[in-house]
Amino acid sequence: MDVATIIIQCEDYLFPTLKFSVRERVLYYHLIRCTHLEGKSSALFTLLPLANATGVSESSSREDIRSLNERGCIKIEDRSRNGHLVRVFLPEEIAGVLPAEQLVPEVDIETLDFYSNRQFVSSLLAREGQRCFYCLKSIRAESCELDHTIAQANGKNNSYRNVVCSCHECNTTKQAQAAVDFLRSLYRKGILSQTELENRLTALEQLQAGKLVPNVGAVKIAI
Ligand SMILES: [Zn+2]
Repeated sequence: MDVATIIIQCEDYLFPTLKFSVRERVLYYHLIRCTHLEGKSSALFTLLPLANATGVSESSSREDIRSLNERGCIKIEDRSRNGHLVRVFLPEEIAGVLPAEQLVPEVDIETLDFYSNRQFVSSLLAREGQRCFYCLKSIRAESCELDHTIAQANGKNNSYRNVVCSCHECNTTKQAQAAVDFLRSLYRKGILSQTELENRLTALEQLQAGKLVPNVGAVKIAI
């Protein structure tokens, strides 16, 4: 999960739903900082450093830790002389915080159809850096085209390994040409520099090898 999503879910759902005080917000962000932003869900905390980091007294820290624990936002897994081992839950892991449509079901990306209904156009465009996969012209989600690097005539393959975002011109010019040949034709026309051509050919190889996986986490998936 990316940081932007966590912050939005905190501000829009967690804090208002559970009526977090300012102190609790500061504490929760700090706990997230020390756990999930370092790729783990639990960490050891002691009161004095925690109080110093969040600008409150030790007794306030203790009170707020208890409050978050009681409300299921964190779980104190162990207490020892070394401190509290605290597991910190993300907003999506806390019961009753996110509305149902915000919960993205687990999906196998290999089974998703990236062509039909343009459902994942934003995810693909983000992967492409908001540019046409072929000529690198800036494109927008509303007007860009979806293109099969290996044309449909060779078999239906709507995988993220085959579907890219392109500008209208590339989509109509390429048609059933092999993507490699089409990229070379853009180079011959002076649309791509030699370095750009080489980068595009590498990107094409990576795409077809399944190394350019779009992030579909933020997309509401219709099942
Ligand atoms: Zn283009």
